[in-house]
Amino acid sequence: KTLRKAVIAGNWKMNKNRKEAKALIEEMKPLVAGADCGVVICVPYTNLETALQATEGTNIKVGAENCHWAKSGAFTGEISADMLTEMGVEYVVIGHSERRQYFGETDATVNQRVRAALDAGLNVILCVGELLEQREQGITEEVCGMQTKVALGGVSKEELKKIIIAYEPVWAIGTGKTATAQQANEVNHYIRTVVGGLYGQDAADAMTIQYGGSMNAGNAEELLAQPDVDGGLIGGASLKAADFSVIVKAA
Ligand code: PEP
Repeated sequence: KTLRKAVIAGNWKMNKNRKEAKALIEEMKPLVAGADCGVVICVPYTNLETALQATEGTNIKVGAENCHWAKSGAFTGEISADMLTEMGVEYVVIGHSERRQYFGETDATVNQRVRAALDAGLNVILCVGELLEQREQGITEEVCGMQTKVALGGVSKEELKKIIIAYEPVWAIGTGKTATAQQANEVNHYIRTVVGGLYGQDAADAMTIQYGGSMNAGNAEELLAQPDVDGGLIGGASLKAADFSVIVKAA
C-alpha cells in the first residue's frame, strides 16, 4: 500500500451550476489544503472553466465525467478528450455505471474512450463494478475482471500509470448501501490480480485502485484502511465540503 498514492475523487454528476460550483470549491479549498492524498473533483462540463480557475495554485485537480472516443467530428452533444486537455483538465471519469446503465456505454466503448483519453494525455478514472443480481449469482469477480480486461485493451504498461481503477458495486452507488470494508477489499484485491496478470506484479502493486459507492464521512476511515483500497470515488458526499474533507483526511 505504501507503494501507491491514495486519491480521493469527487464525482459531482449532474449537480451544481457555476455559482454553486465556485462556492463549493471556495469552501473546500482550505479544508483539503495540505492533504496527504491526491484530491480530484470531477464536475459537469459547464463547470470545468470555473473549477479550473477556482483551483488554480491549489492541490485540487479537475476532471470531467466522460469524454468521446473520436478526436472531433459529427457527434452532436459530445466532448472530445483533446477539448478537455486544451482547457487544462487533467482527469476524466470513464465507464461510470450511470453511463453504462442509462447511456448505452459498453465495455467496448469504454475501451475506445480510455484510448482516446490516454492519447490526449488525460489521467483516467476507470469505473468497473457488478450489478446486485450479478453479486447474488456469485459472478462479481468474472464481471469486474472482464470489464477491467476489455477496458485496458491496447493500453501499454507505461500508459497504465495514468489509469486509476474505481471499483464501484452498482448496488452501492447512491443507495446508502455501502459495501463492507471486507467486500471492497476483496474485489479491489481481485482486480489488482487481474492487472498483475496483464502487466506484471510491479505494475499491479503500483496501481491506485479506489472504492466507490456510498462512501461518506462516517464509513470512509474503515474502507480506506483496507490494504487494497487506495482512495475513493465519492458521489453524494463530494457535494458537501465538510463531508468531502473528512474523507480526504481519512485517506
Ligand atoms: C459515484 O457516483 O461514483 C458514487 C460512488 O456515488 P455515491 O458516493 O453517491 O454512491
